[in-house]
Order: sequence, then C-alpha cells, then structure tokens
Amino acid sequence: MAIDRYAADSGIVGAGGAGFPTHVKLDAKADTVIINGAECEPLLRVDQQLMARRAAHVLKALDLIAEQVGARRGVVALKAHYHDAVASLTRELVSYPRLELFTTGSFYPAGDEQVLVTEVTGRVVPEGGIPLQVGVVVCNVETALNVYEAHTFGEPVTEKYVTVTGSVRRPMTVRVPLGITVGEMLALAGGSQTDDYAVINGGPMMGKIVPRESVITKTTKGLIVLPTGHPLLTSLHRPLERTIKDAAIACMQCSLCTDVCPRANLGHRIYPHKLMRLAAYGSVCDKYDTPMNAFLCCGCRLCEYACVMALQPWKLNAALKSNLAKKGVHNALNNKPERPEIFRETRRYPVHKLIRQLGLDQYDVPAPLSDTQYHASCVTLPLQQHVGAPSEPIVGVDEHVEKGALIARIPEGKLGANLHASISGTVTAVDGENIVIKR
Ligand code: SF4
Ligand code: SF4
Repeated sequence: MAIDRYAADSGIVGAGGAGFPTHVKLDAKADTVIINGAECEPLLRVDQQLMARRAAHVLKALDLIAEQVGARRGVVALKAHYHDAVASLTRELVSYPRLELFTTGSFYPAGDEQVLVTEVTGRVVPEGGIPLQVGVVVCNVETALNVYEAHTFGEPVTEKYVTVTGSVRRPMTVRVPLGITVGEMLALAGGSQTDDYAVINGGPMMGKIVPRESVITKTTKGLIVLPTGHPLLTSLHRPLERTIKDAAIACMQCSLCTDVCPRANLGHRIYPHKLMRLAAYGSVCDKYDTPMNAFLCCGCRLCEYACVMALQPWKLNAALKSNLAKKGVHNALNNKPERPEIFRETRRYPVHKLIRQLGLDQYDVPAPLSDTQYHASCVTLPLQQHVGAPSEPIVGVDEHVEKGALIARIPEGKLGANLHASISGTVTAVDGENIVIKR
C-alpha cells in the first residue's frame, strides 16, 4: 500500500501547524522533500529532542516520503546548535546515502515553511502559494514519525508530543493521549508557580491564549504558562482599536517592520509599514499596493519586535484579512519572485534577541523529553483537529471502544482526517463537535 493511504487510514495531519491532512500532501510529485526540524518558536523543545532520540525513524520516514513523491533530494533541515540531533542524524545517515542534513543559524522564523524552502533550495514559493508549486514537500518531524509508525506498525495517531514550559515547576516534553485537558498537562509539569497565570497554546510568537479546559489535539505543540501581567500577555491582549490609534499617533514610517518581515524578504508584496498608513490615513498612499497585501502576512509577529515603538502591524493584518474574507474577497496576489530580496540574509532576526525582548530569558530552559505514561480517565476528541471538513462520527453513546479504534472518518469526497480513540473506554457523548470517551 502506498504511504499516502497509510497516512489517510491513520488520521495523520501536520503536527506542527494548521493540521493539513498528510495523505493529500503525499499524493503529489516533487523533486525535494524537507523534514522541517528548525523548531524556531522560542521555548519549544519537541522536534529537536525527537530528532536526537529517534533519528533512525525520522530518516526512515524521510526515505519513505521521498520514494512516495519521487524526490531526488531528501533533506532534514534543523538549527546547527541542536547538537544532539545533528550528532544522532549524522550517525544514522550512513544507512541513507541519498539523504542529507541542512543546518541553519538560530534566527526567527527559520521554520516558516516558505522561508525554509528558500534556505534549502534557493527557490521562492509564489505569493499565497505552497511549496509544492516549486517542487518541494515539507513535512514536520513529528508528522514524519507518525508516517513511520503508520507504515511500520499500522498505528493510528492517538498521542501527541507536547512541551509544557514557562512558569511551571517541572518544564518537560511528554507524549500524552489526544483529548486530555490543558489543566491535566499543567499538573503533569508540577503545576503553575503562580496562582494567577495564563496559558499560551503554541509558541510565544504565534501561539494563542487558551483556557485550562481546552484539550490537546493533533496540532498542539507547546503550552507556555506565564504569570498574569507578563509583557507577552499584555501585548496579545492589546485591543485592535489601540493598534489603529497607535498607527496614527506613533508610527513614524521608518519601515523597520518591513525590513525584517520574512515574507517581504522573499520578495512577496507584504509591506507592514504601508498597511500602518492604511490604519492612520485610510490609504496605503501608494498606487501599486492595496489592503489585499495583508493576505500575504503569515502572522509571525516579528514586525512588533522590530518596531522601536512596539506597534503591532500583524494585528492590523489579521483584522484586514478577516474583514476582507467576510466580504467574500479572496487573495488574488500570486507573483512568482525568481529570487528573494538581496539583503535577506543580513536581515535575519536572532532568536536570543527575540527571547530577551519577549521577556522570556528566565524560561529559556531545557524541557527534557519524559518517559512518563499518562493514563487519562477521560478524553474529549474534537471532530475538527485539521484543515478541511470535520470528521463524521461512526460510534454512538454507550459503545465500548479500544484504543486506536476508528471513531470518526473523513466525509465522502471531502478534505479531512480520520479520528481514532486515544484511550480504551465507553463513549459517553457524541455531538457535532466532540466525541467523549471515559475509561
Ligand atoms: S517599525 Fe513601527 S514605527 Fe516603523 S514603520 Fe513599522 S510600525 Fe511604524
Ligand atoms: S506578522 Fe509582520 S513580519 Fe510577520 S509576515 Fe506579517 S507583516 Fe511580516
């Protein structure tokens, strides 16, 4: 059976981003496959430890994926300072002569899919496009390991590696069943060090604040606990109205935000300083550009940290994209730059500088991969953990299911992902959004 079918049967989706169904990604032809091990979000420690501990499995998965898509080149791309991972992968590479490592410096966002494609191949993904348009398939480390497990053991996705860090007593990285709560994860890490805190799901740059009751899904990568009042939380909570006012009273049009913008540096037409003009004056004041440029923003938030006034062009872009989409306006920008901006390499933003600016120095500590086995008594499995249509339940209340059993499947003819029981137990609820299983 081709591995895209294993991926479909096992419910594999991108484990590090929006959750694009992997079987669709693998049903393609490309000349290059890149395993994205850059893990550029500060404090997250999943991929670098998986590559160190499971290098042979990562390379086997890369070999399988390269075979599947017909690629001549298979690359694991990671930061040069992930020394343990580089050493393990280098040792195992002798068994895979056609595969290679590519190391990058420690800059943000080295793990942005489009930035990584340019780093590794020199090609530029078109505006609003995907790596496949330039002959590249990019796959997250944990996604690749899920492909390995599906192919080798027929195992579906029922667990997730997550880093829990920040203001917790025992920062750790641990593999847990899908569907347990954020609160349970914090308890595993010894609990919060403060009574008043907030939790960010994802990295500090692109993550979102979530309640303790929310659950671990196929795309959860990290949970960062911060005490209430931490500057990062204040930044995330700053209202859009304030950003719009600030654009008028404090933006000096220095364009530092555009200088560091990773997508602008690929040659895409995203100019955050011009979109600040739109907020301030109701016009981008440039006959070549329009509000549609906001569609080319990847939401990396780097513009805020380049700005000496700490303004938030990214927040404006997010609002613009959402308003345009509500009006039925879709991105029509699809230029294909032949090469990135010539100053791109001199404008890379160092991660250590970012960590200091974010006020995260004290939390920049190891989060060791733990062998702890967590036995959940109850899991809540959302039907929508991926890009596409929600999965369709095939189990009913009071039904007994074993761990790994298919409980919801891809709707006929739609983009989606299968869903499997993450513990053995009894189904206690099935609604339009979740399936609940109690042990
Ligand atoms: S860096 Fe800040 S002040 Fe300068 S143009 Fe961008 S938003 Fe305005
Ligand atoms: S968030 Fe800012 S820096 Fe990042 S892509 Fe958007 S405009 Fe560019």
